[in-house]
Amino acid sequence: MRTVGALLLIAAAQVPEEAALADARARMVVEQLEARDITDRRVLAAMAAVPRHRFVPEPVRAQAYQDGPLPIGAGQTISQPYIVAFMAQALGLKGTERVLEVGSGSGYAAAVLARLCAQVDGIELEDALCDASRKVLAELRVANVRIRCGDGFHGWPGRAPYDAILLSCAAEEAPAPLLDQLKVGGRLLLPMGRAGRDQVLVRITREKGGLRTEHLQPVRFVPLRRK
Ligand code: SAH
Repeated sequence: MRTVGALLLIAAAQVPEEAALADARARMVVEQLEARDITDRRVLAAMAAVPRHRFVPEPVRAQAYQDGPLPIGAGQTISQPYIVAFMAQALGLKGTERVLEVGSGSGYAAAVLARLCAQVDGIELEDALCDASRKVLAELRVANVRIRCGDGFHGWPGRAPYDAILLSCAAEEAPAPLLDQLKVGGRLLLPMGRAGRDQVLVRITREKGGLRTEHLQPVRFVPLRRK
């Protein structure tokens, strides 16, 4: 009986915390996304649905819906919610696409993208982050994300071509293998620039006649590293 009572107490204590986090998430959508330039209804719905707090370490869980990046271990960070939403919107997904994310880290952006397309393949260099992201994606029953551990510089040739590729770490130029793995009409989004310096989010679209490059906005990402 005692154990049951204690369990009930724990469950009761967790309900208000979950409710507060859900409220914070709803406010995040209004105050950080709609108030800026996120207008894609599907992106807003995905951001409202994915529990970002599950993808960050316990000590920073209460800050999960604040307007900034957070540490996720291994010296890496989960991007600011607004930046995840902006990138998702910039990929222009309709629902049928196959998407590659290089630098899938905590798995949060992959979980958001998974609600906007058919399949997400993620590649992450840090083994600990690979393991943690697989675990939370399984707990949340996200069935259309597959995570591979390793260096994503070369993309995922066996599963290419992709409709969209998101490079979630900064590179001085677009990795050629990723450009090669885009379908015609496909787009690669990447933070371009040096680590710790000004970077710009760039969208490169493979058109029939060649590549079209657009500069979207200044950003700050951890660097792409090679193994
Ligand atoms: N989208 C992630 C953000 C992670 S930060 C999220 O939502 O949590 C960028 C990630 O890129 C880091 O986890 C880092 O380990 C990873 N990374 C850096 N170089 C890489 C490479 N060559 N291949 C794969 N992942 C890489």
